[in-house]
Amino acid sequence: MQNFLTTLARPFFRRVVVSKPSTPPSSSRPLGRAALAVSFIFFAAAGISAPTDPTDLKFSDQADALLARMSVSEKIGQLVLLTGYGATTGPVQQQSALEDSIRQGDCGNVFNVLGVAQIHRLQKIAVAETRLKIPLMFGFDTIHGYRTIFPISLGESASWDLALIESAARIAAIESSAAGLNWTFAPMVDIARDPRWGRVSEGAGEDPVLGSAIARARVRGFQGTNLAAPDTVLACVKHFAAYGAAQAGRDYHTVDLSERTLREVYLPPFRAAIEAGALSVMTAFNELNGTPATANRFLLQQILRDEWGFTGLVVTDYTSINEMVAHGTAADEAEAGRQALDAGVDLDMQGSVYLKHLKQLLASGAITETQINTAAKRILEIKFRLGLFDDPYRYCDEQREARLLLAPEHRAVAYQMACDSFVLLKNEAQALPLKSGVHLAVIGPLAEARLDLLGSWMGTGSSEGIKTILGGIQRNNPAGKVSFAKGCDVMSPKQDGFAAAMNIARQADVTVIVLGENGNMSGEAKSRTSINLPGGQTELLRAIKSLGKPVIVVLLSGRPLALEEEARLADALLAVWFPGTEGGRAVADTLFGKHNPGGKLPVTFPRNLGQVPIYYSAKNTGRPLDPAQPRAEYKSSYLDAPNDPLFPFGFGLSYTRFEFSEVQLDHSQLPHGGELTATVTVTNAGQRAGTEVVQLYLRDLVGSVTRPLLEMKGFQKIALQPGEHRTISFRLGPPELSFLRQNLTWGTEPGTFEVLVGPNSRDLKRARFELLRE
Ligand code: BGC
Repeated sequence: MQNFLTTLARPFFRRVVVSKPSTPPSSSRPLGRAALAVSFIFFAAAGISAPTDPTDLKFSDQADALLARMSVSEKIGQLVLLTGYGATTGPVQQQSALEDSIRQGDCGNVFNVLGVAQIHRLQKIAVAETRLKIPLMFGFDTIHGYRTIFPISLGESASWDLALIESAARIAAIESSAAGLNWTFAPMVDIARDPRWGRVSEGAGEDPVLGSAIARARVRGFQGTNLAAPDTVLACVKHFAAYGAAQAGRDYHTVDLSERTLREVYLPPFRAAIEAGALSVMTAFNELNGTPATANRFLLQQILRDEWGFTGLVVTDYTSINEMVAHGTAADEAEAGRQALDAGVDLDMQGSVYLKHLKQLLASGAITETQINTAAKRILEIKFRLGLFDDPYRYCDEQREARLLLAPEHRAVAYQMACDSFVLLKNEAQALPLKSGVHLAVIGPLAEARLDLLGSWMGTGSSEGIKTILGGIQRNNPAGKVSFAKGCDVMSPKQDGFAAAMNIARQADVTVIVLGENGNMSGEAKSRTSINLPGGQTELLRAIKSLGKPVIVVLLSGRPLALEEEARLADALLAVWFPGTEGGRAVADTLFGKHNPGGKLPVTFPRNLGQVPIYYSAKNTGRPLDPAQPRAEYKSSYLDAPNDPLFPFGFGLSYTRFEFSEVQLDHSQLPHGGELTATVTVTNAGQRAGTEVVQLYLRDLVGSVTRPLLEMKGFQKIALQPGEHRTISFRLGPPELSFLRQNLTWGTEPGTFEVLVGPNSRDLKRARFELLRE
């Protein structure tokens, strides 16, 4: 499998034109040697280069030549994307209506059509029955797998393993393209700091540096090095922008955000994805500071095109042009269409606004044909890049489809990815790993889950052939005994199953209790006002724990949950997210120590909802609470809870134990523009091989604007044998020391910096240096 992973993880670079760098571009700077994935991420200075690539010019010329032959109606047809009949999140077309639209040239792109046979049929209508024979693009939400389902994106992100994440995206692309698709609506790169928002599950968590690294890995995985290869798909980075900042965590809700926070926190992963080559961008449903994202020229023109030099296509989210009427910035759909086109939206997803109104808008002079040409050209260029004009059926090979979907080598990576996504949050008195040969009680509403293991956006994943966590535990304990009782349902407060559960727990040596959210409780439109365990699950845990025996909690969730009591009651707590097709086996194997968990939280777990928003990179305030005096008055604190979270960002335990040396800096003073190296030695001081994610944070003590207490600037995931140690180096220079200064330009300011290194954002060793004046 190692070879397979290596071939999958091919690096892919693409530079973009940058005219005015006001969001930090990002780049990878690997340093030091790591046995596993080396993941070291920094913001880098703007790379300025002109689009001189002859291939780009070729596609541009080809698109121009075709455009010159097209009527206005044919051009408008290219700006239309309609849904088929697969998974949908809104109103759907009738199949016959879709076919007619394609035939009439009214629909140049389709999504949610599943399988080569169906896709071939629709493509044939486009290329055999329309005047210019322009092939269709076929999109789909392949988010964490197409048929082989990987852990939800938040879970994958908890692995902090960029090579493995890239492999998962590569496989998702291989399977999607084998099923006829050439476009995925991923990666979703929305920074999310509110666990009420159900779409936390779809992203990479709360941090822009981790989020950027993962965005890059996913784009490389989806697009590979050649968009025209029959096993790659066009990536679509979404949702542009700041969708994750929805007020009160309610989906589609208002976003009111400073330009500073937008640029520092929410935009970097988008930019990283575009630098990695993503050639499509999806607008967000939300408004940003009073303007819907889908009509937002500041986002779509100034930032995306002018500052970042993006040359690909912009697609709306599902009917988001139409929704501008409800937002209240357009009186009717025609005006919404005008605004969207004017802002730079090329493709109208499922709204048919462009189809219905652009001609009339053109006739009235409200828009120009040049605007239509610009949008159509961007779409045609992508179709040339995808190789669709050379062979419109290049993704339509039923034999590949039959061979590759759910292929054993894909499942093997899904298993590995699941294992690496698990985060061990507590392990009192080495309650884990479990010993086989004992009597285990397995309890809980999710112990027998199949479909729920897949989470939201499960592609074409199905429960068929999925092994449950209970089944995995039984297989790991052949010489022992496993008793099962469900105890309760996920959502129900009913306690009538408690007695049976307590009965088996009383007789067992150890109880494994599998709790959490249903697979469909996170994702789009799945906001919650409580982040507690739903139903009567906490009561069930309380009842089982009252028996006085060891209790292991396995937690399924698509978001951080408030688990103060549960974490106290549990002897061990393992967060497994929604772990995908191979999740049941991976969870059980991890419980029994066949795999040593090494995942780290990509998002803070609060103690309770009242602490939200809570994230590690908070500011100090003018009245910071001294942790040594937690009850001091008139400090920035709560009457009824501590300030710190239950589990901090970057946190995760292991079955082994790692020790960190002090941090060494090779300079205590740094000239302006200089670089220094921070080193730390990490030792595996335990008895088992394991992985650790070495995290480097920075604090700029004084700035022209307030700076966060911590900002992660790099991380490396390493694997160490028992007794082994490794010295890890991080280089720090202008890109890492820069920030968005008071005048909204990126740069450094002289003064003292603190460098902090450790296994999470709480337990850190620190050193200081001074950045000198120019
Ligand atoms: C979601 C997008 C998705 C689109 C197409 C929308 O409802 O917000 O993330 O890509 O549907 O399925």
